[in-house]
Amino acid sequence: MQHDRCFIPGCKRLTAPLMDKDFALFHCRYHVQHKARHGSHWQKTYKAADLKPYIKAAEKWGDANLRDRHYSVAWRQIDHVLAGAGLVDPAMNLRGQSADYKAKVAFARLREAGVLHRRIVHIYLGVAALIEDDFGSHRTQEFRIVQAAKAIHRLASGTHRKWDVWNPRTGGTFPYELHAYPSSSGHVLRKIGRVLEDACSDLLRSAVPEIVALKVKLYGEHPSHMPPPERGGITPDSVRL
Ligand SMILES: [Zn+2]
Repeated sequence: MQHDRCFIPGCKRLTAPLMDKDFALFHCRYHVQHKARHGSHWQKTYKAADLKPYIKAAEKWGDANLRDRHYSVAWRQIDHVLAGAGLVDPAMNLRGQSADYKAKVAFARLREAGVLHRRIVHIYLGVAALIEDDFGSHRTQEFRIVQAAKAIHRLASGTHRKWDVWNPRTGGTFPYELHAYPSSSGHVLRKIGRVLEDACSDLLRSAVPEIVALKVKLYGEHPSHMPPPERGGITPDSVRL
């Protein structure tokens, strides 16, 4: 049975027409699209700055656990994906290509940009650790898949070119740069994320708690662990005084 109103608290919009059986029964079009883009109906995409300390902690964890069996299986599998991703033609037009093909090109771009297999594993683990550590996060596999794919896709998406352009006024040239980032669709992100999940998910249970602990030791607690700001009432400190 379809419900009339979106299930997200505070959202009073009508539910979307039944275009997608999984989502649209309970949510409005806005929140359905939010999920397609971010991997969650309500949780926004993490910023690079939020992820950074977790990725650093994952790197340190990786350096200290080179002989971990799941870890080496993970980066070897990612290496295999990178090697098998084919060539990158900078002039290629991805429009009209399948999501599988676009995901493959995304991995080929990472390889051409010199992104190493272990870095990809560290980013995936960093994303998983942040989601685990953020008390307010949406702890679903779907959110992890999309967030990990986004963080990795950011590393090498788009074509960057530089020209020297003639300036008729001065007779000289000036440098002109173009950075084109094709926006990654929800389907492509999920394809990328599933490849990461296939390679690395066996690592989660053992690595994530250790990475979170390492992050807290190096950079402190996540803001969601802090007590809410006092509202002028009696606090433990004022009682002690
Ligand atoms: Zn809604």
